[in-house]
Amino acid sequence: MTLIPRALALAVIGVMSSSAAARAQQIRPYQPAFDVSDYAIAIEVPDTGATIRAQATLSVSRTLPRDTLVLDLLDLTVRGVTVDGRAVRFTQARGTIAIPLPKRSSTRVEYKVGIDYGGAVTDGLIARADSAGRWTYFGDNWPDRARHWIPSIDHPSDKATVTWRITAPASKTVLANGKLVSTRVVRGDGAERRETVWRESRRIPVYLMVIAVAPLEQFDVGETACGLAETQRCVPQSVYTAPEQRSRMPGSFARVGEMVQLLARLVGKYPYEKLAHVQSSTRYGGMENASAIFYADAPFRGAGTNEGTIAHETAHQWFGDAVTEREWPHVWLSEGFATYFAALWTRAARGDSGFRNQMANIRSTILADSAAVPRRPVIDTIETDLLALLNRNSYEKGGFVLHMLRAQVGERAFFDAIRAYYAKYRHATAVSDDLRAEMERTSKQSLGWFFDQWLRRPGYPEVAAIWSYDAASRQVNVELTQGVRFGAFRFPLVVGIVDSTGTIHRTTVDMNAGEGATVRMQTASASKPVRIVLDPDVALLANFAVTER
Ligand SMILES: [Zn+2]
Repeated sequence: MTLIPRALALAVIGVMSSSAAARAQQIRPYQPAFDVSDYAIAIEVPDTGATIRAQATLSVSRTLPRDTLVLDLLDLTVRGVTVDGRAVRFTQARGTIAIPLPKRSSTRVEYKVGIDYGGAVTDGLIARADSAGRWTYFGDNWPDRARHWIPSIDHPSDKATVTWRITAPASKTVLANGKLVSTRVVRGDGAERRETVWRESRRIPVYLMVIAVAPLEQFDVGETACGLAETQRCVPQSVYTAPEQRSRMPGSFARVGEMVQLLARLVGKYPYEKLAHVQSSTRYGGMENASAIFYADAPFRGAGTNEGTIAHETAHQWFGDAVTEREWPHVWLSEGFATYFAALWTRAARGDSGFRNQMANIRSTILADSAAVPRRPVIDTIETDLLALLNRNSYEKGGFVLHMLRAQVGERAFFDAIRAYYAKYRHATAVSDDLRAEMERTSKQSLGWFFDQWLRRPGYPEVAAIWSYDAASRQVNVELTQGVRFGAFRFPLVVGIVDSTGTIHRTTVDMNAGEGATVRMQTASASKPVRIVLDPDVALLANFAVTER
């Protein structure tokens, strides 16, 4: 997702307040004995207000001997539960439904679990009147708010397909994950109502399962990225807006076809049945719901959605959505990837200087951070407040680590590994070591040290350079020292010597020294340099200080 500035501020405050008291989080599999493979969810959406009536049918595999299935569900009231069509005595307490399972002799058992439920939703499905007084309903689940309206195993490790059967006022547009299956008019008590069915045939995490029920109008962007779609030939893309914004489309969505094309070429075929870009009530700047990205409302009514946000959310369709972090501490596999692949979109759309500027901005953001980057590693197994994981580590530092990894292994090995990682884990889940294994295989390098220093330790190198010019011997001498604040790192450093014409002469120094050690470099220069720049191509996450002796 993309954070709006205020949301980021809240996330950062979350880091500060919770970190001191955070206890070591035991990373245990969430519900290892069960796997939901499919959700079929029927919801009656009202004309006004927040009260829904719903029926969910879950296809559940039990993989270890257990006699009770525990599902997450907050706030709403369960009226009845069936297992394989038979009513069972369930208990609803502390945000869960405990469902007794009939005894079976075999180890692996499949169940169909039906839950009849309803009530006033308070979160997850956001029911509210828009600025024109029209009722709208938008799912907004990240990280674990789906349990406010979907009885589920609400954790990214458990991905499933989903069928949505939504009955809503016929005046509203109903949109959800996947492909439109059918629509039909149904008899309501008052005004006409319509049942709309959407089906997502690829497994997605519950946090990406959403519906939109609102007075949306569709702007058809057309078939894009033909030959680069997994489930059909082309990717149908649309923008859905409030009626009064439709005339401004496609606006900043004009290049979404090129974006999907670029990502499909770099990574793998587009994973879903369509891609809808939706004006919504999400609390985030954008939320990457699989095949139906929900964007914040305000930019649609103002200057337009930022193209970088669109590229970020679009990149999530591959990273986060198709390949999902199995455990929350690895959320950089989602946010860091979306950040970096949005920068790669900039490279394709605006060239190398635009890309370098974006990486320089990302680096400045990391170096300016005082909340997460200097205190926590990117893979943060301590933080228990999930919103606090939306920080400069998961986004910007994770993105910059990919940038350095690309330099470390080389362009070809990097993208070969990205494609292999994607192909292996799409519609499934991964952790950071799964990425490392693919990078090690394609590059034939051991990368444990790289992943450890950049992802499992806080901070970044601090490099000080002191230089002098010896006119007699026409030599430039540079002394390079790493600061001790975050310990010593291992990296190649490009030292740029700028002459009077502005030309940069580059020398690469291997900074593989111990803490506090100084590396000396000497190079010929016909005249005294105008200045020395460290890392002129923005390849390294570090802060730099250069002084002339
Ligand atoms: Zn994101």
